[in-house]
Amino acid sequence: MLRLTVLGSCGTFPGAGRACSGYLLEGGELGARPTRVWVDTGSGSLSNLLRHAPVSDLDAIWVSHLHADHCNDLPLAYYVLRYGGTVPDRPVPVFGPTGWHEHMSNFMTTDATSSTTKDMRDMFEVHELHDGETITLGGLRLNAIETQHSVETYGVRATDGGSVLAYSADSGPCDALGRLASGADLFLCEAAWMRLPPDYRPIHCTPAEAGETAARAGAKKLVLTHVRPDSDPADATAQASQAYGAEVGFALEGDVYEFGDHQ
Ligand SMILES: [Zn+2]
Repeated sequence: MLRLTVLGSCGTFPGAGRACSGYLLEGGELGARPTRVWVDTGSGSLSNLLRHAPVSDLDAIWVSHLHADHCNDLPLAYYVLRYGGTVPDRPVPVFGPTGWHEHMSNFMTTDATSSTTKDMRDMFEVHELHDGETITLGGLRLNAIETQHSVETYGVRATDGGSVLAYSADSGPCDALGRLASGADLFLCEAAWMRLPPDYRPIHCTPAEAGETAARAGAKKLVLTHVRPDSDPADATAQASQAYGAEVGFALEGDVYEFGDHQ
């Protein structure tokens, strides 16, 4: 069984009472409980994560890229572990793009004149992703696929051996996005742009591009996410549905998607 709980789905900036990108991925039960991965640590998603799981219980954290709307809560997760009285048995593995630890360490260093930066490796185990890498965590397999964005970014294709869940992270329409979504039971795809901007570079999708990608890839269900909070959800899903050829979902905080057999 795979379960995805939406912790934050706002694109680029949060809305009132709403959070930026963050998802709790659970599945691949081995023994008593499923593997738990917090995918993207956008602003506000930590608060929503804590409704479902303590940070110390996570098997891994996945940071798709270092834009603020996808990683801002990671330093706060460090504080939860360091000062919140729930020190994990071992450092929590954090998978992210090249240099994520240095980037976050610089951010965490409060003394600008200091020559040494804050080291978070007492609470986090540092892993740098590369394209095509497969990570096995309990009964979950995560495949990192580098997407087309303005910085190094990794979408994730997750499976428990049965169901497949694909998350675009941030990406323009590209071959990699199609491979990521191929035949997925759920394709959670970003749609940051309602229409192409004047200075267009293919680093985000429109709802129609998300729909076209999902249709071409044979994804069984499409849910839009990373839609800016000032965009109209009905307009976004209408555009995506037309291109996809079927009804399209719209991710909101608290939504849960489940696939496969319950055990
Ligand atoms: Zn981004």
